[in-house]
Amino acid sequence: MRGVLLSCVLVQAALGLAQADSLRLRYASTITEADLRRHLEILASDSFEGRETAKPGQWKAADYLRDQFINMGADSLGSRTTSSDVEGFFQRFDLIESGRGTISVRNGAGQLELGQDLLYFTEVLDSSLQVKELIMADIHQADGLDWKGRDMLLNADSWGPGLSPTLLRDNLNMARQRHPRTITVLMEDFGALARMAHGEETRLSLAYEESRRKEPMPQVLLVRRAAFASLLSPKARKRLARLKAAQGIPVDLDLVVDRKSRQVESANVLAYIEGGDLKDEVLVLTAHYDHIGIQHGVVYNGADDDGTGTVALLEIAEAFMRAKQEGHGPRRSVLIMPVSGEEKGLLGSRYYSDHPAIPLSRTIANLNIDMIGRTDSAHADAAPYVYIIGSDRLSRDLHAANERANAHVGIELDYTFNAPDDPNRFYYRSDHYNFARKGIPSIFYFSGVHEDYHQPGDDVEKIRFDLLRARTNLVFHTAWELANAPTRPALDAAKP
Ligand SMILES: [Zn+2]
Repeated sequence: MRGVLLSCVLVQAALGLAQADSLRLRYASTITEADLRRHLEILASDSFEGRETAKPGQWKAADYLRDQFINMGADSLGSRTTSSDVEGFFQRFDLIESGRGTISVRNGAGQLELGQDLLYFTEVLDSSLQVKELIMADIHQADGLDWKGRDMLLNADSWGPGLSPTLLRDNLNMARQRHPRTITVLMEDFGALARMAHGEETRLSLAYEESRRKEPMPQVLLVRRAAFASLLSPKARKRLARLKAAQGIPVDLDLVVDRKSRQVESANVLAYIEGGDLKDEVLVLTAHYDHIGIQHGVVYNGADDDGTGTVALLEIAEAFMRAKQEGHGPRRSVLIMPVSGEEKGLLGSRYYSDHPAIPLSRTIANLNIDMIGRTDSAHADAAPYVYIIGSDRLSRDLHAANERANAHVGIELDYTFNAPDDPNRFYYRSDHYNFARKGIPSIFYFSGVHEDYHQPGDDVEKIRFDLLRARTNLVFHTAWELANAPTRPALDAAKP
C-alpha cells in the first residue's frame, strides 16, 4: 500500500515535471527560423543605414523594435518607473559627439603633419595648449616620478618590437591613470597603428560621464621620432638622444586643437514582461541593436553583429509573452532590452547600469547575446556550438542553470573564451560586462569572430539560421530556468 502510494506520488511529480517541460518546449517552439529571418532581413537591410548610434538608422531600428514589442503585447516601463529618462519603451540618454578634429603641433621651427608625423586620440579638450618642456618617463618603472598635470614624454620603441594596438592601448591606459596633462609618445614608425588613431573620426561619449569628469582627459599624441626631433634646437636634439627617465627637454610647442563637439541623443529599448509571485525580481536580457553605420558610402549591415542578438531578443520576448497570455507567465519579471551605443564603447549598457530603470538590487542576472549567427574557423565543420563567457565568474548557480537549460537544446557549450587569461578579453567586450561590473551574474552568448566581422560583408545571406535558432533556444531555456527557479542565482563565486 505504502509502496503504491509512494509510486503514485512519484508518478505525479514526474507528470508535473513533464508538464512543465512540455510547456516550456511549447513556447520554445514559437522561436522559428522563419521569424528570425523575417526580422533580420528588415533590420539588416540597407534602409537601416547600418544602425549607427545616434543616427537616423539607429532610431529607425529603435522604432521597429518598439513596434514589435507593442504588437506582442509587452509593456513599457514608462509608467512604472520614476526614472525620468524612461519614456514609453525608450530609455533616452545624451551623448557628446566630438566631431572630426584637427590638431596641429608646431613651433617656430616647423609643424608636424597629421597622419604622417602625428597621430592623436581625440579626447575632450577644451582649449589649445602650450607645452614648454617634456619630461621623459618609463611607464614600466615605479620610479616615484610625479606625472600629475605635467607634460610627459614616452619612448614606445622601448616597448618591444612590433608594438600591437592592444599593447599600445594597455600602456596608454596605464599612462592616463597617472593623470598627466599631455602624453607624447615617440615612435620610429607608426606601422599598423595608424589605423587605430581616431583623429579623423567622430567619437561618442556619455554626457553624464563627461560632466562628472573632474580633470580633463590627458591629451595623447603619437609622434614620429624624426619629425619630432626636427622641431628641436640642435642642443635639445642632442639631449633627446641621451634622455633618461625623469629628465626634461625644452620643446616650446603649441598644440592647437580645432574640434567641434555637440550633444546628440540615443536610446535603449525596454520591453517589460511582468512576472507573477516573484515579480519584484527581474531578469535582464540584452543585445546591442546598433552597428557601425555607413563608411565611405558603404552600408555596414551588421547582420551577425548584432542583428542576430537583436532578433533573438524579439523571439524570446514573443515566447514569454505567449506563455503569459496563456496563463503560464514567468514567476519573475523579464526585461528585454536591446541596447544602443555598444560599438562606441558599450555606452547604452553602461548608461543603463548607472541609471537602472529597475533597481540593480532586484536584478537577478543578465543574459547578453552578441553575434550568434555564424561559425568561426575553430568550428568550421563541427557540431552546433555556442561560446559561453562569464557564466561562472559570479555565480555557480547561473552556470548550472545554463547547463541544465542546454539539456533541452543539446548544443556544445564551448568555454574557450571564458578562461580568465584569454588574450581576446571578450569578457570585457560586450554589454554584459556593465552588469558584471556591478556584481550581477551575467552570461555572454557568442559564436565567435569571422572574416566579415566589422566588414561590409556581414550580411543576412551568410547567417546560419538553424544555428541562430538553436542558440536563441538555449538563451530562452536559460531565461525560463532563471525566471521560474525557487531562488535567484547566489553570488557564490569570485568577483570579476
Ligand atoms: Zn557586437
